Amino acid sequence: MSTWRNWAGTESATGIETLRPGSADELAAAVKSAAEQGKKLKAVGSGHSFTGCSVPQQVMIRLDGLSSVVHADKESGRVTVGAGTGLRKLNAGLAAFDLAMANLGDIDKQTVSGAISTGTHGTGARLGGLATQVVALDLVTADGSVLHCSAEENPDVFAAARVSVGALGVISSLTLQCVPAFLLRAQEMPLPLGEVLDGFDELADGNDHFEFYWFPHTEIALTKRNNRVAPGVGASPVGRIRGWIDDELLSNKVFELTNRLAVRRPGMVPRINRLASRALSAREYVDASYKVFCSERNVIFRESEYAVPREHVVDVIRRLRAWIDASGSRIPFPIEVRVAAPDDIWLSTASGRETAYVAIHQYHRLPHDPYFRAFENIVADYGGRPHWGKLHTLTADDLRSRYPRFDDFLAVRDRLDPRRTFGNAYTRQVFGD
Ligand SMILES: Cc1cc2nc3c(=O)[nH]c(=O)nc-3n(C[C@H](O)[C@H](O)[C@H](O)COP(=O)(O)OP(=O)(O)OC[C@H]3O[C@@H](n4cnc5c(N)ncnc54)[C@H](O)[C@@H]3O)c2cc1C
Repeated sequence: MSTWRNWAGTESATGIETLRPGSADELAAAVKSAAEQGKKLKAVGSGHSFTGCSVPQQVMIRLDGLSSVVHADKESGRVTVGAGTGLRKLNAGLAAFDLAMANLGDIDKQTVSGAISTGTHGTGARLGGLATQVVALDLVTADGSVLHCSAEENPDVFAAARVSVGALGVISSLTLQCVPAFLLRAQEMPLPLGEVLDGFDELADGNDHFEFYWFPHTEIALTKRNNRVAPGVGASPVGRIRGWIDDELLSNKVFELTNRLAVRRPGMVPRINRLASRALSAREYVDASYKVFCSERNVIFRESEYAVPREHVVDVIRRLRAWIDASGSRIPFPIEVRVAAPDDIWLSTASGRETAYVAIHQYHRLPHDPYFRAFENIVADYGGRPHWGKLHTLTADDLRSRYPRFDDFLAVRDRLDPRRTFGNAYTRQVFGD
């Protein structure tokens, strides 16, 4: 019996039985046997969700035994991996075949199945989240059978299972559509927030991957543009010392200290944010895509993120800013804004619409409730959809109106898991019963 805790420390479980199957057959047998005994099961990735989506109630399934590249076809770019493969290991494994994921999020600590299950995404107006890069998957359902799903085989389960918050069964393997390995030129520079908001569409559409971080209480947004380089251009990575200063010292070590200072002296937060936004100065470098996408995040925080129709994102930021200014809240963490193309996955936060993501954060030792509640009220006016792995309070009734295929998802769930073997408090909140 063991204890489990997520990265953010927002969720935990004790007295948990852990299963570590070493093969897909062992996984299927373990699921069947536990389900027959009426036990509740939960597949757990690396615990990087802030919500209770991965909290095990009785039995935790860890897929470290299914965590490698099973098959890679360099020609087609199709790569099959065990569901427990960590993104860091995946990226290195793909690089060995001269392949890469077309897009990634900010960190590489998650497992591939945990990441897709909550709709983890990066940024790029012409690109979708990680789940859109999945072309097939194997799903072990409560009766121990293995469903192979793709656009051709079990297409309804495929549409449901790619973002399914662990509620349909346990994914044992995934086939990813990868792309030839590529280099990105990263251009990072602070700009006035007003300029970024006024030019948001041009910035989002004019770059392969555009995002910005706005430091509350300041006029400054740190913009990041990542674009594929022309053929023949080689890598020119950030120097080791500059990389350490920017990514380790300023973004993690000093940031932890300034956040601690913010706890003791909240009145100093506006000044701290102005300093922080100036300290992260302009830089440009070229490196392998996955090294540009992913960085270290060691300061513990709370996060909420909503997907809104892209045309409303500037309004959302302006209203959020007005709320922060009027409320007297002190927010030492920046707000991150990203974009994604529409996709056809039923519960993907970008399902069926051009999407912008607004992610708000708060240091873990500072109160986040009023801020997150105000944010949730603002995005509700635009049909905002919460990231399944980040803090929110919506229930099935709220979510039904925000996802046209919500009831189709529930129908697949009723069929595959009628006894709610894979249920927990979070699935009851977001899917009902
Ligand atoms: C520091 C930090 C940075 C982050 N950056 C980003 C970002 O840039 N973009 C973004 O979109 N999100 C981001 N996230 C959120 C994170 O990507 C998601 O919460 C992701 O789901 C975590 O993956 P995990 O492997 O830790 O899975 P867990 O959190 O352990 O599990 C997530 C869900 O997946 C299910 N699951 C896991 N394995 C399986 C399986 N084999 N079969 C079926 N279901 C399974 C679990 O039951 C659970 O419902 C970040 C989180 C943190 C803490």
